[in-house]
Amino acid sequence: MGNVIGFVGLGIMGREMVANIISRGKYETVIFNRTPAKCSSFKKKGAKLASSLAELTKKSDVIILMLADSDAVRWALEDTGGILSEMGEGKTLIDMGTNSPEFNISVESMVRERMGEYIEAPVLGSKIPAREATLTVLTAGDEKVFERSRDILSSFGEKIFYMGECGKASQMKLIVNQIMAGMLALFSEGLVIGERADILPDRMFEVIENSAIQAPIFKVKGRSMLVSHDFSPHFPLKHAQKDLRQALSCADKLDVSCPVTASANAQFIRAKDMGFGEEDSSAVIKTLLKGDGEIHIDV
Ligand code: NAP
Repeated sequence: MGNVIGFVGLGIMGREMVANIISRGKYETVIFNRTPAKCSSFKKKGAKLASSLAELTKKSDVIILMLADSDAVRWALEDTGGILSEMGEGKTLIDMGTNSPEFNISVESMVRERMGEYIEAPVLGSKIPAREATLTVLTAGDEKVFERSRDILSSFGEKIFYMGECGKASQMKLIVNQIMAGMLALFSEGLVIGERADILPDRMFEVIENSAIQAPIFKVKGRSMLVSHDFSPHFPLKHAQKDLRQALSCADKLDVSCPVTASANAQFIRAKDMGFGEEDSSAVIKTLLKGDGEIHIDV
């Protein structure tokens, strides 16, 4: 495996991840983003800018995708001058975004038809773990390709799991996000009830942290949801809803009834309809507030 990495997608996660590759200094980095302005600060740090996805693919041994959803991946692969036009022997595509198992299996076939290699590698953890290189990486696909990619993946975190054939890592990722979104929806209900019942927020967090339901997600999000009302996106709500939708579709194919997930999904759709899609997923709490869902802070 050569040492040139082409990185596509400089969103909330991608820009932190690519910064870690560059600072390790072990790989040459070529970058591309739909909105080119987001690339300029990385040029100063030593990354090369590609003017098209085809050029990025031509120059790279390994192409990493960190894109919003399957529409974006399709665009990157197939748009005129896209990745597939230059994909071939000796090149590996690693998709680290969250897409459905079915979709990733179809991408694996497209890449293999062109004699390239593919693994899926979705991640657990958000903006701060991405910055601190403490993400958990779930991988699946050809095990030999995974072993060859291990060093690159370790740029993003030490905890790397190989799950088996392509589709298994994305399925596991969706299970985690399905549970997490459900937890956030239920946590929101509990917090709003507590507030209306005049229980002090800090006392609520303290009790929850000392109970059987304590969880890192509650510790990380609790204060920003109820006290500081900071919903700047770490994991955008629209992506949380995308993952719920995909999790429900997987459950349906496996004949598993998921009424709790369906209810959480309805709540996240409502939050998107109310205009909170670009905010953090914890903004789901705003669907439970009176009026327009906006939190008006007295200053
Ligand atoms: P993000 O901030 O929304 O960034 C999305 C990236 O995809 C940007 O580079 C964006 O380009 C590009 N993009 C979006 N729509 C596109 C389209 N139609 N065509 C081409 N490019 C498009 O997302 P993120 O939070 O970094 O997440 C990326 C992926 O990782 C998602 O699948 C998400 O579910 C998953 N993930 C996120 C987190 C998290 O905490 N944020 C954690 C784990 C996994 P522009 O810059 O031009 O908009």
